[in-house]
Amino acid sequence: MALTIAGSDSGGGAGIQADLHTFAAHRVHGTSVVTAITAQNTRGVTAAESVGVDLVRAQLDAVLGDFSVVAVKTGMLGGEALLALVAQYGEAGRLPNLVVDPVMVTTTGDSLFSGDPAAYLARLGPLATVLTPNLIEARQLLGREITTVDDMREAARALATYGPRAVLVKGGHREEAASGPAPSGGLHEDALASGGHREHGGTRGSDEPGGARSGRGETGGAPRSSGEAASAAGDSGSAIDVLWCDGQMLELAAPRVATRNDHGTGCTLASAIAARLALGHPLPQAVSGAKAYVTEALRAAADWRLGLGPGPVDH
Ligand code: PLP
Repeated sequence: MALTIAGSDSGGGAGIQADLHTFAAHRVHGTSVVTAITAQNTRGVTAAESVGVDLVRAQLDAVLGDFSVVAVKTGMLGGEALLALVAQYGEAGRLPNLVVDPVMVTTTGDSLFSGDPAAYLARLGPLATVLTPNLIEARQLLGREITTVDDMREAARALATYGPRAVLVKGGHREEAASGPAPSGGLHEDALASGGHREHGGTRGSDEPGGARSGRGETGGAPRSSGEAASAAGDSGSAIDVLWCDGQMLELAAPRVATRNDHGTGCTLASAIAARLALGHPLPQAVSGAKAYVTEALRAAADWRLGLGPGPVDH
């Protein structure tokens, strides 16, 4: 049993919708606390409104007062009021196995957090089992440039000092990040997979968009330690991600999937980690297995045409 605390994406590609799809694909019952409603499609967000603090608190109490939630994922929190509320529940020990996706901005460049990015670290850093920033978010959280894999390692170490057990810095934006300032669009969460343990097992049922689905057969492998993965990744066509976990630096590499359909990859990755933690996977395996899952999600949806903009992955 898992819980997502996140915003609604009316286009069904990211947010609560992606999270619940991902939980279901893992055969994990999904509960949800909706923090915001966005009017959104593949081209962008046209309106967004936060849910009031009292109604979010009521949802948290309803879920946590009845269900034995084993793992929790947070996504869009909108602003500091809901960030503080969620932190209160975490501080009270009510959000076990907490995966914090510090959602700041969409692929299409729309802002999803109005507060101070540093507040994420101050409030949720100490409570997180794993923090999953992409490069843009890591840069906003730390206020420094991150372009090379060395920078990513340093960023993971720096973020870990705020208290999470693990930090996953996702390198999918590395090329874009290297070529300019924090983008206002065109961000790409990239293919992420366990270092050298990419499982295929990709029986997702029908190949058609919206077709019948079955869970993937992969089991999640252990990530490689630092030097190994870098050589496995090579210099071209690879996405390298850095995982700082229990004081160890690991690198995860995967081939880049050439597709414009990458909407919701960050949500899907974080909720797949939560689902795997709910299933009892150890943390590094939960992360690497979730990455393999996202790689397959990108591959499976690579040729879909579900809208005029970047379409969703196959959660
Ligand atoms: N919409 C909602 C409600 C989200 O929570 C998120 C990300 O967490 C997004 C949109 C952005 O998704 P993406 O950056 O993959 O487009």
